[in-house]
Amino acid sequence: MTETLDAPARSYSAHSPLAYLLSLADEAAQVSDQEQREDAETAVIHHLSRSYPYSLAQAIDVMAWQGYPAVRDAGRVFWEPSAVAWLDGGLWLHHTVRSTEDDGAIDVLTLIVPCTCGRGYSDITLDSEDMLMEILTELRPTHGQSVHNGALLDCAIVPAVPKLDI
Ligand SMILES: [Zn+2]
Repeated sequence: MTETLDAPARSYSAHSPLAYLLSLADEAAQVSDQEQREDAETAVIHHLSRSYPYSLAQAIDVMAWQGYPAVRDAGRVFWEPSAVAWLDGGLWLHHTVRSTEDDGAIDVLTLIVPCTCGRGYSDITLDSEDMLMEILTELRPTHGQSVHNGALLDCAIVPAVPKLDI
């Protein structure tokens, strides 16, 4: 993260051509972020209506999805744009579209489940409605929590407090 304190002092007037151009770039970046959010929300809604028409598409209001722009640092994309929905009970769904040279664009839908130990989450990549039903059947006895397995450290993948700006 860039610390504001490290930025050099501004050496141009607030009414200079440079100030105008820099604010133009700032506005363009914000529009692009907003477009990425909306595209991420549209992508997950389409994916659910295609692949999870009887479950997730019915259960989650389209307005519940919160899109996020790509996370970049020094021009490199660390995370693709994504969308997140809160399911209640500590469970989240996360969706992103991953581009690979071999397979093109792939929808990656992840169910984020709190662990019974209370210290972390397990993330489960879903590949079909059938698989989702199997997982939900397993989660029913624990009311939507994954059973802690210390040997596998399966709940250590995602920190206990997800950093989501909602
Ligand atoms: Zn655990």
